[in-house]
Amino acid sequence: MLTVDEVWALIDREVSVLPAESVPLESALGRRLAEDVSADTDIPAFSRSAIDGFALASDSQPGRFRIVGEVRPGMPASPPPRSGEALKIFTGSALPESGVALVMLEDTVTEGDEVVVSVAGTTRLVRSRASQSRAGDVLLSAGASMGPGAMALLASVGQARPLVSPVITTTHFSSGSELVPVSETPGAGCIRDSNSPLVAALLAEAGAELLHHARGSESVDEAVSVLEPLKADLLLISGGASVGAYDGTGEILRRLGFVIHCARVKSRPGKPLIFAARGAQIAFGLPGNPLSHFVCFHLFVRRAIDRLSGFTPRKFLSVRLSGTPPAPDPRETWWPARVRGEAGNLVAVALPWRDSSDLTGLPEANALLRIGSAGINGLVDALLFGSLES
Ligand code: AMP
Ligand code: MG
Repeated sequence: MLTVDEVWALIDREVSVLPAESVPLESALGRRLAEDVSADTDIPAFSRSAIDGFALASDSQPGRFRIVGEVRPGMPASPPPRSGEALKIFTGSALPESGVALVMLEDTVTEGDEVVVSVAGTTRLVRSRASQSRAGDVLLSAGASMGPGAMALLASVGQARPLVSPVITTTHFSSGSELVPVSETPGAGCIRDSNSPLVAALLAEAGAELLHHARGSESVDEAVSVLEPLKADLLLISGGASVGAYDGTGEILRRLGFVIHCARVKSRPGKPLIFAARGAQIAFGLPGNPLSHFVCFHLFVRRAIDRLSGFTPRKFLSVRLSGTPPAPDPRETWWPARVRGEAGNLVAVALPWRDSSDLTGLPEANALLRIGSAGINGLVDALLFGSLES
């Protein structure tokens, strides 16, 4: 039986990074940049006004000036005004590279074609050419997350089709004769399929695309015929990963041509976990219990998705446990927890976990605590996957 660290090493070794792709900027949200992006020009590319007001000759003092014209945003810069002259300008108006000082509209009174200025002109109100970056400077490095700020920065330097990480396509098969769709009332001995919405949401959070979804019984033949024609980067099979008479995931994967690299992992929850590969395609058999599902997805599936996408794996944060520590176990335990910031520290509260089918703590969970066989003594490693906001 492999340890969690050994399964991670296996995933890192067996999963290859898929090629990056060039996509329209508006489709890049949530992906990672796959190459450095540089400034295409100096930024700003030309000197611009930061205010509405007037451009005067350099070193102009308070006094009366003749308004000789205006430069609206979008017009080319005019030559610097001569002494005693003023040019009406606006926020964003182009300015000559030198020879001007600006005054704000609020410090002036306009009288016909003259303006009375009550302050000295200043160059502090000019956004000078290249004052932010020079052409060729790297503005964003490969690996950066494409959030709203990154999208705006890329737009400003003309990146209409940035090179970004691929979207990982997925097939999810939920197995078990006891499962009924969420919209149905389960009959005797049956339960609702809560893993399918869970997996769909976890995939969406990871930026992966759920291409195909199917539900089936424990029949290996049926699963193989459903899954055979469905192609995706990642195949996830819920349930049937263990060693019971009706646990057929290993057999299904073998019949589909996958090589099984791991069938059990020394962790709690989640002992039955299958990791398999068929060329560049990756598959996981996840234990059916919902809590095991949640934990195994965060520990293993997410790592494979990140690896396929070319992302670095998520890191641990050191947190302090508040309240009663969960009881240790000979197997390494991954305990769902709520981590929050408190007076400059990260503090974790362990969430309820009565057994591996217990979903009640999961809505609150934003981390998994890594609890070794010796239990917790002071700080504990947490794998953070959600926002710290309460
Ligand atoms: P299995 O891994 O198939 O042995 O299932 C272990 C437990 O998880 C059983 O109690 C199943 O009923 C339950 N289970 C399996 N699949 C799901 C699912 N999609 N949604 C909720 N519970 C499930
Ligand atoms: Mg089952």
